[in-house]
Amino acid sequence: MSRSHLTLGVLEGDDIGHEIVPAAVKVTQATAERCGLLIDWRHMSIGRKALDESGTTIPEGTLETLSTFDGFILGPIGHREYPQVPGAINPHPILRKHFDLFANVRPTRSYPDIGCLYDDIDLVIVRENNEGFQPDRNVVAGCGEFRPTDDVSISVRVITREGSRKVATAALELARSRHKRLTVVHKNTVFKLGCGMFVEECRKAAEAYPDVTVDEAIVDTFAMHLVRHPQQYDVVVTTNMFGDILTDEAAGLVGGLGMAPGLCIGRGNMAMAQATHGSAPDIAGTGLANPYAMIESTRMLIEWLGRRHYLREAQATAELMRQGIEAALAAPATRTPDIRGTGRLNDMINGMLATIEQAP
Ligand code: ATP
Ligand code: MG
Repeated sequence: MSRSHLTLGVLEGDDIGHEIVPAAVKVTQATAERCGLLIDWRHMSIGRKALDESGTTIPEGTLETLSTFDGFILGPIGHREYPQVPGAINPHPILRKHFDLFANVRPTRSYPDIGCLYDDIDLVIVRENNEGFQPDRNVVAGCGEFRPTDDVSISVRVITREGSRKVATAALELARSRHKRLTVVHKNTVFKLGCGMFVEECRKAAEAYPDVTVDEAIVDTFAMHLVRHPQQYDVVVTTNMFGDILTDEAAGLVGGLGMAPGLCIGRGNMAMAQATHGSAPDIAGTGLANPYAMIESTRMLIEWLGRRHYLREAQATAELMRQGIEAALAAPATRTPDIRGTGRLNDMINGMLATIEQAP
């Protein structure tokens, strides 16, 4: 069914979130206006601001309200800095679980002159988002880590057939829309049951995608090849913690954390734009935060929704945003210092807007 507008939630998060999220909204709104897309932006408090206002980092009704939207933008959350009070919960797992956003799609792309280690990287790592080693995602009584005695710690890693199948299918769909190659990254030589199950489910899911060439790589070898020959990869799928580490490694190849966008998706249409990096309290308020990751994450959200809803105006918006982003990245004056620029966040936004507003 075709539709004429999108309703999007805006959750700024903490620290540089208050700079990069408004930047993403500004660039997206300006582009949408050019392309005839109506976006109804709905601002909501989350994180430290919500804690100060209402005593909890994720106010009551947040999930219900978000579920009436088409998607939302989540800025970085600095939950480790929160005071030790009962309402100071980490909103991340709650959002991901509630909307079953099991696939975290994280592209890595080279741009000229910004300090990329190679000039021809174009890959996407799809990280499983809701299970694995991370204690906050653990389905075993919410307890992924425990100490049976004071001298022993045990960390539990949960891999399910269903979780593996879902993320594998999302990655295969993505591969089909790109260069039709998928690499499954695992360590089934050691984690015979966990990684073993993940690989089995990836193989089974791949049977329905005979047009996609699938290969498998052991995570340590893959980490080495990623540094030496990143050009050989198209779409990569892996479990949660491997994906966490490998996506930061991949970001390092193309200019650092400011260049690492992400889109969290599930089976339904709901999606959440979320940059890979944290809230970077060390540079908050200085104007030095690189807004690329947040803006590109938002662009990915618009592109995703445009495809899901057959919304041509959204697809045009995503395309024009791409041009604006590329134009700003092309000149040092409209880039932040982390990517060999002489400008600040506002210069980067203005660089994008200049191109977007000149578009025919
Ligand atoms: P998390 O655990 O939430 O991932 P982290 O401890 O990995 O957080 P980040 O907040 O991601 O830390 O930041 C790490 C460093 O990278 C920061 O000190 C910051 O200087 C830099 N950084 C992160 N994001 C950006 C950005 N968008 N622009 C410029 N520098 C950034
Ligand atoms: Mg980090």
